[in-house]
Amino acid sequence: MRFSIDSEQLESGAVKRVEEMIQQSPSVCYQCGKCSAGCPVHYLMDIPPNVVIRLLQMGQTDRVLESRTIWVCASCNTCSTRCPKEFKIAECMDALRELALATGKDTPSEKDIKLFHREFLKSTRRFGKVHEASLAAFYKLKSRHFFADVGAGIKMFFKGKIRPIPHRVKGVREIRQMFEAAGYGQKVEQ
Ligand code: SF4
Ligand code: SF4
Repeated sequence: MRFSIDSEQLESGAVKRVEEMIQQSPSVCYQCGKCSAGCPVHYLMDIPPNVVIRLLQMGQTDRVLESRTIWVCASCNTCSTRCPKEFKIAECMDALRELALATGKDTPSEKDIKLFHREFLKSTRRFGKVHEASLAAFYKLKSRHFFADVGAGIKMFFKGKIRPIPHRVKGVREIRQMFEAAGYGQKVEQ
């Protein structure tokens, strides 16, 4: 997954890129709809998950890359576990997010979700797991939603759910190597 995908190249081969990323083809989907029926956030999506797969089958990748759906997806994996064809829908959504970022074809209306996505990856790369306090701080600074969810944050802090000091996991070096191997590396920090 690289951030330097040529836009024209993508036009002609987006589905192929997704197939390479997830090592599976959307053509296996037979449109039973079980993924959409079980998706906990389908009501926030503009295109249901099974229709995303259908659009990929038809080569209509622009509609998918510009959709709200790929950013609303919470990567919960419910769809993948329900799929009778064992299609990796959650991984497919992740691949589509990366393609959208790489090509600038993403929808500007979801800029806060994208910002959160980036900060989440940065935090994971730095510490080996997410450090909620610094993630929230960076996200708020960059999104300028300074007072959103402050009450919930304070409650979580007093219940010991948020650690003020970050803690690096033992295998942080290996986790960084995984980021490098996936083509993120320093790009995540930008
Ligand atoms: S559950 Fe699987 S086969 Fe059914 S619509 Fe979704 S992706 Fe296609
Ligand atoms: S992984 Fe995404 S698309 Fe699949 S069920 Fe969860 S939120 Fe819905």
